[in-house]
Amino acid sequence: MKQDLDHQRHALLEGALSEFHSRHSGGGSPASEESGEDRVYRVLFDSILEHRLAPGMKLKEVPLAEAFGVTRGVVRKALARLSALKLVNLRANRGAAVANPSGKEAQQIFEARRLVEIALIERLAGIATARQVEELRRFVKAEHDSYDSGDTRSGIWLSMGFHIKLGEYADNAVLSEFLERLVVQTPLIFLVDGHGHPGKSCSAREHTEIIDAIAAGDPKQAAACMDAHLRHVEHSAQPRRTGPKSELSQLLGLD
Ligand SMILES: [Zn+2]
Repeated sequence: MKQDLDHQRHALLEGALSEFHSRHSGGGSPASEESGEDRVYRVLFDSILEHRLAPGMKLKEVPLAEAFGVTRGVVRKALARLSALKLVNLRANRGAAVANPSGKEAQQIFEARRLVEIALIERLAGIATARQVEELRRFVKAEHDSYDSGDTRSGIWLSMGFHIKLGEYADNAVLSEFLERLVVQTPLIFLVDGHGHPGKSCSAREHTEIIDAIAAGDPKQAAACMDAHLRHVEHSAQPRRTGPKSELSQLLGLD
């Protein structure tokens, strides 16, 4: 039974992630024949969002190419994709580094999230189907179970997936794509050392309140819950610390 639940949670998580990556893919090759570029992109994406690579850390092409066993050109393409998501800064003549939003930029990311997510949630509360509400509840349950069983990594991804799903269901592709970018930038703002991690700030109770308001078809209430939730997440953000230095391949989980 527990294995079944783990399996369901894993499927939900992988589904949400592969949908996200296919929307931001370079060439769109199927997952079964992942290209070198896709692999570099995906490993760096995970390593940045899970804070194994700290904000501001330099990403040099040669050591990365060696660690992945690919050419510098492949690394460059993957870095360009991450730069389009604002997870990596590419600076002329200075190379690439993990994005490192300033306090002011962090505030702007949250301000933008409030504007976009409140607009999307008001829309969704008027049009959500019973099936969509059910799917959102499955997300929150999986998120809660992940934290409960100590699987913080899945919890974080499911928390982000919940917000991305809300955007997707609200049926405005332009706004939801903008939201996706803001959601994946959010972990860059939080503390690195495991306490006060972004996922934990997204409480399952607050997510459930948002879903209840959507299910009741109450746009005003849904917007109020989302506003309160995002302000809560923002206020739980704390200054980051830099983690211990390790070998690149170890940081990327390639060892
Ligand atoms: Zn949340």
